[in-house]
Amino acid sequence: MSSVGDSRITKVVIVGGGTAGWMAAAALSRSMGHLSIRLVESDEIGTVGVGEATIPAIRLFNALIGADEIEFIRETGATFKLGIQFHDWGRIGDTYMHAFGQIGRSLGMLPFQQYWLRGRNEGVAGPLCDYSLNATAGRQNRFARLPRIPDTSLDGIAHAFHFDAALYAAYLRKLAEGAGVARTEGKIASVRRNGESGHIEAVVLEDGTAIEGELFIDCSGFRALLIEETLETGYEDWTHWLPCDRAIAVPSENAGPARPYTQAIAHQAGWQWRIPLQHRTGNGHVFCSDFLSEDEATEILLANIEGRPLAEPRTLRFRTGMRSRAWNANVVALGLASGFLEPLESTSIHLIQNGIAKLLAHFPGLDFDAANIDAYNRRVRFDYERIRDFVILHYHANQRSDSPFWIRCREMGIPDTLAAKIELFGSHGQIVREGDELFVEIGWFQVLTGQNIVPRGYHPMADALTRDELAGFFDDIETIIARTAAHLPGHEEYIAQHCAAGVPA
Ligand SMILES: Cc1cc2nc3c(=O)[nH]c(=O)nc-3n(C[C@H](O)[C@H](O)[C@H](O)COP(=O)(O)OP(=O)(O)OC[C@H]3O[C@@H](n4cnc5c(N)ncnc54)[C@H](O)[C@@H]3O)c2cc1C
Repeated sequence: MSSVGDSRITKVVIVGGGTAGWMAAAALSRSMGHLSIRLVESDEIGTVGVGEATIPAIRLFNALIGADEIEFIRETGATFKLGIQFHDWGRIGDTYMHAFGQIGRSLGMLPFQQYWLRGRNEGVAGPLCDYSLNATAGRQNRFARLPRIPDTSLDGIAHAFHFDAALYAAYLRKLAEGAGVARTEGKIASVRRNGESGHIEAVVLEDGTAIEGELFIDCSGFRALLIEETLETGYEDWTHWLPCDRAIAVPSENAGPARPYTQAIAHQAGWQWRIPLQHRTGNGHVFCSDFLSEDEATEILLANIEGRPLAEPRTLRFRTGMRSRAWNANVVALGLASGFLEPLESTSIHLIQNGIAKLLAHFPGLDFDAANIDAYNRRVRFDYERIRDFVILHYHANQRSDSPFWIRCREMGIPDTLAAKIELFGSHGQIVREGDELFVEIGWFQVLTGQNIVPRGYHPMADALTRDELAGFFDDIETIIARTAAHLPGHEEYIAQHCAAGVPA
């Protein structure tokens, strides 16, 4: 007679020791103590190691795995991130911020942005960023951990991090091994499958060692060793919407105080990131090889970094899109093995976190119930597609005519879901957040208006205030934000005082 206990999975094998592999190891070991988890990684193959900018949800993940925030910052050379500043995206010369956290405050049923649309029309509202503490503090290079603005109804600072991906993986490894995860170093040479079910039974190393498991988590990066090379799951290509296919990355010395935000600077056929860490700055140029050679892209990058390069520039090649099914048979793919959306909104690490959270929610039994797997795949696809639309928006809504790349991005077809969103926004600035899609209304609003999409009207309820009341509403918020920001310490000063790298917690 069997019992529920007999159908439990106990043996998990994680293939890959990059950010995805160690995040999965840390989270599963912490959340499901009965599992025996083994992670296999190959020093010879190495990791991608460029995922350095995150979004605030990473703090939930760090809390899940029991990471102490200060210790984590010290060990990964992290800085704080308040948002992303975009340069030259809509038109050359434009700058706007996609700041995390609250902007202004809603009044009654109506969100702040509706009042702002009216206020802009009537000349009583300033730039959107003046009503965001994150944007105002960021502009002034200031930071403190401040969940609320005291004595007001306004939220405080919402922060994420920039960190060194290699150091983060090492930190996660320490936590995971501390929680009982076993690690094997070695290169997987072949995969053994069950002749009947097709499920994977073991991965076999070059030295012949077989590592058996019941559930396999494929974190092998772009190689997608199990989900694609073995199971041939299929890949949905999105390069017709997101045509950038390469990145040149180079770290540099810090050339000034670390900014508490990521910079995304558009160039002629792509864009450049600047990510300040405590000990260096991460730089990269994401571009489309149809329009620019690697040599040209490298030249543009090196001409636009602020400090001395610390290494030779490195090329990374990718194809935007997602695996047709992130979970196939007894293999769940996470990280680059599950798909790739370029790092414009720092969503890859979040998608790993999201995949792990959903895997925990849908954790299978030995029967690998098909309805459970389908539900997981549906949810992961939804998340990927909504983020995809958000990233496409940055490219598509441009008014640049200085290069064929930007003209092509403006003229290309876009997914129906995104077209519907832009159309709805165009009528009176409304944004509907679908389900639990990652980016909230105010995030979409900042990018839509930052890329110069102006709605034809605003919600009639915004007319409930007189013009003077409206002006007073904006003045009050701006004053509170300006006063609060002015009292925050400098970003570097805050780090030096609380969480400088290399200083034991
Ligand atoms: C240009 C670029 C910029 C990025 N910037 C950001 C960012 O700012 N923010 C963000 O959130 N994300 C970013 N990402 C994404 C981020 O880097 C990845 O999501 C993250 O590093 C996860 O990688 P991974 O662990 O899936 O794969 P990898 O780092 O490639 O790790 C793969 C692992 O699999 C192992 N492996 C592979 N084959 C075998 C084998 N045969 N035998 C044994 N082991 C094997 C390797 O040894 C390695 O340990 C960026 C990605 C790119 C390409």
